Order: sequence, then structure tokens, then C-alpha cells
Amino acid sequence: MNQIPESHNKTLLCVLAHPDDETFGMGGTLALYARRDVDVHLICATRGELGDIDPEYMERIRSAACLRTQELHCAAEILGINQLHFLNYRDSGMPGAEANQHPKALAAQPVEQVAEEVAHLIRVIKPEVVITFDPIGGYRHPDHIAIHEATVKAFSLAGETDFSDPQGLPPFQPGKLYYHTISKAFLRAVVWVLRLIGQDSHRFGRNKDIDLVSIAEVEFPTHVKIDYRPVRDVRKAATACHASQGGADMDKGFRGLITKLFGGHHDTFMQAYPEPREGQKVRRDLFD
Ligand SMILES: [Zn+2]
Repeated sequence: MNQIPESHNKTLLCVLAHPDDETFGMGGTLALYARRDVDVHLICATRGELGDIDPEYMERIRSAACLRTQELHCAAEILGINQLHFLNYRDSGMPGAEANQHPKALAAQPVEQVAEEVAHLIRVIKPEVVITFDPIGGYRHPDHIAIHEATVKAFSLAGETDFSDPQGLPPFQPGKLYYHTISKAFLRAVVWVLRLIGQDSHRFGRNKDIDLVSIAEVEFPTHVKIDYRPVRDVRKAATACHASQGGADMDKGFRGLITKLFGGHHDTFMQAYPEPREGQKVRRDLFD
């Protein structure tokens, strides 16, 4: 797994928590860079053990982890991701779930330990750009927050001479670190529409455990905006791979409607490193 073929392309590393994060989150951006001949690597920290699987699938498969790993392979191939790297932790579920306490639960691991694993992979992959979740993990999923924190630590750790790499690899310092952010204008619009039709935006999602109002209140600056319209069909095809998680339907309904209203098909990123200059203009390229 740790043999990366020699390549002269630019390299992008995306560090996330579950199968489907790569597609529903920043799938358009990953597909766009893959199309531009950037080597795209994905670290997925868990196998999505706690995803709700429709009963019709459950009869035919051994476990949610197995199915969701296959779904991720399918999506990665369509998006053009060159290589997948698993950390083999376990999905922790939403706050308060029993699975939070599982000994392999990602959110229960010491952040230093996960950071060392990510730092090692950074030395293997040698990316110019690293992207991960924002500090509230998009919608406050404990695994998203855990992998965000580990990635921030790993980003500098990989470049430090006193981090002793398990394979003795030399230090490597990537140039840029970004956090993928959810458009709060989009979210506020969703909250507005939900209120209009009498739904509770404090309890959103399949499991009614996402508080959209509290997420909409946290604003992160946008430093890079990626227009992925040239590959929107690629992203859409990848969503179909995650059939057990709602697949392409996740993009229909409200989300689809609001995306159209706001002229969607953009991903937004906050620049964490190097520290953005004051008054820095919004850029269109993560490598710029
Ligand atoms: Zn996730």
C-alpha cells in the first residue's frame, strides 16, 4: 500500500472520515483535479460501520463496513482518485451513540496517535496540498472533528525532523492546508425553507440528529472557491455508488432545489496554512 509510483504530477491529499464524505462533500473538486492530471489521494479513517443500510441491502452483504468499502472504491474510481488509504478505525456515530465508546472508535483515539499515522502517509504521498473538514466537521460529526484535528497536527508533524517515521521516511512539509466549508448562505436557505413547511431544522437528517440552526451560525471565511461545473456529471455518477446511503437521491429534493436557486456546483475552502494575508482575494485554484 505504501509504494507510490514515481509521478511528476501535482499531488492533492484529502483526509476524511467515512466512505461517502469524499463524494457528497467535495467530490466535484476531487474530480476536477483528477481531470487536470493532478494525482489525487484519499485517506479514509473508517469504513463507515454505522451508516444506515436499507434492509434490502443488508440481506445480501456481510457487514455495513464491507458494503461501504465497496461503495467507496466505486466512487473513487469514477471521481478519478488515484489511491485510497484506510486507517481502519471505526465509525463513532453521532454524539451520544453507544458506538462512541467502542475501543476502535475514531473519535475515542488519542489525537496524537491518529496524527502520526496521517503524518506518515503525508511523507509517503508527498502532497503539495492537503484538504480536510472544517473545525466543526461540517455538521459536528465527532469523527469529522477528530480527523480534522489529527490532520492539522499531522500537517506540521510530517515536516518535523524529530518525528520518527515508522518506515524511516524523511520529513516532508506540504505547502498548503485547506478546510472544506459548507456554504452558510445555502444552509440558512435550507433552514428558511424547512421553517416554511413546518419542519424542525434543529433535528435534520435521516436520524434527526443534525442541528442545522447551530451549524448555520458558525461562519468560516472563503479563500478558495472551486467551480466544478465541468465535472458535475462525474460527481453525480459517483453519488450513485453510495446507494446504501441514499445515493443520487441525496442530491435531489431540497438540496437539489436550493443548489439550483443559488447557481450551485461550487465547493468552498478556508485556507489554514499558510496563514491568509489580510484582504486576500478569493482564488479559484487550491494550488495557486
Ligand atoms: Zn462522514
